[in-house]
Amino acid sequence: MSNEAIIALARKIHGERAEIIIRLLAEKIEVSDEDIARELKLDPAEVRRILNELFESRLVKYRRARDEVIGWYKYYWRITDEPVARILEDRKRLTLSLLEKVLEYERSDEFFVCPKCGKRFSSAEADENGYMCDECREVLEPYDNTEVIRKLEQAIKKLREYNPEAL
Ligand SMILES: [Zn+2]
Repeated sequence: MSNEAIIALARKIHGERAEIIIRLLAEKIEVSDEDIARELKLDPAEVRRILNELFESRLVKYRRARDEVIGWYKYYWRITDEPVARILEDRKRLTLSLLEKVLEYERSDEFFVCPKCGKRFSSAEADENGYMCDECREVLEPYDNTEVIRKLEQAIKKLREYNPEAL
């Protein structure tokens, strides 16, 4: 798997700046965040924020080393050596379990909605509030979540069919 897949993924998940940063890492192998900021003329705080996002997505990794001159730790970043397919497989699993939880919740209850402000209530919450909106005192109406459930089912099906190995 080439760095191009990682670069494309970085752009898709974290945007254009992330792509530029990861392209620099691809070229230089290992760079400190100060050097990335300097090289790309970006705000160092922003660079660190994007690197942390990329790290959370497991697209980059870092090495920490004490700078003998300034006495602080410096962080040296590089592109992950994990296979992209595995990173994507994990993302898929995580997203699926999240969607399934939401679907389960949507199916488990009857919901109500405030016709004025659109706030949604579970049956227990609606009951607790005497079927009135606690914000605008409007009488609640039953909320039809058929469409929400349909969209969730569709998303789950699509995600299950998606195979990162086929990249
Ligand atoms: Zn309301």
